[in-house]
Amino acid sequence: MSLQEYNAKRDFSKTSEPLGQYSKDVGNKYMIHEHHATRLHWDLRLEKEGVLKSWALPKEPVTIPGIRRLAIQVEDHPLNYGDFEGTIPEGEYGAGLVKIWDKGFYKQKIWSEEKINITIFGEKLTGEYELIRFKKAGEKEWLLFKKKEN
Ligand code: MN
Repeated sequence: MSLQEYNAKRDFSKTSEPLGQYSKDVGNKYMIHEHHATRLHWDLRLEKEGVLKSWALPKEPVTIPGIRRLAIQVEDHPLNYGDFEGTIPEGEYGAGLVKIWDKGFYKQKIWSEEKINITIFGEKLTGEYELIRFKKAGEKEWLLFKKKEN
């Protein structure tokens, strides 16, 4: 189960991040964390089946259509990670400041192995976005882009 990977990577006696537990909530929260780890990146998270499906974005998320950006799928995070902000201590996995960059909810049109099409209702990101698998780059690689508005 995928939250085992989340839990295995963290020492909860040292980090203030929440312990990974499945939730029975059914929702459609969306958020992006800004994560000042070894390398600054953004973490896109979409609530799905009791966890937050997560992708690390090496570059700041784009608000203009058409620009394709790498999104690397990472381990599922627990739902209550959505509100997490704080500093992960030195020496711990993902050490550095984590803060919420954007949040809201999303509506799903397509969610398949190859493609995820959603409309995001955030404060910074709004509108239709797509994640498509980028198999040439690897198993965890996706491309994220905003769709052109009609
Ligand atoms: Mn991260």
